[in-house]
Amino acid sequence: MKVTEKSLKARCTELNLKDLRDTTFGIRFERLTKGYTVQLVYRDATPPKNLIEEASASEAAAIIEGAAAGASAVKAAGGDKPEYITTDTFVRQAGERCVKCQTKDITAGHLSATTKGVLSQACSCTRCGTTWTAIYTLSDYDNSAAVIE
Ligand SMILES: [Zn+2]
Repeated sequence: MKVTEKSLKARCTELNLKDLRDTTFGIRFERLTKGYTVQLVYRDATPPKNLIEEASASEAAAIIEGAAAGASAVKAAGGDKPEYITTDTFVRQAGERCVKCQTKDITAGHLSATTKGVLSQACSCTRCGTTWTAIYTLSDYDNSAAVIE
């Protein structure tokens, strides 16, 4: 299969949502004028780490698969104890707790629209200082509510 910018993007999204979902990092790739850059982006304040720069599409694809395989191996060996809670846990807790230290002592900012049907809210933990963005998706409407004049 030919590697294209589109297929690379789809692969990164797939890995970030599945294989890398419980890890402390995700993979990002960018197409710059001189070629592709592949980065590991961490879920905390750690600066992104470049894995390769000015790469061809197939080189970028190989690096992406390598990083995913490495993460899977670490996970299979039980060496990866995620520092942050998983998406499932976050949703189950209704976003009411810090994603790192699990305290309810958090500060949430205003909701803002990012894309259609999705709202995001900047949050921070008063105890450990971790910051994150809570993401809300549109799910339903209720037309029985009284209209407030
Ligand atoms: Zn915290």
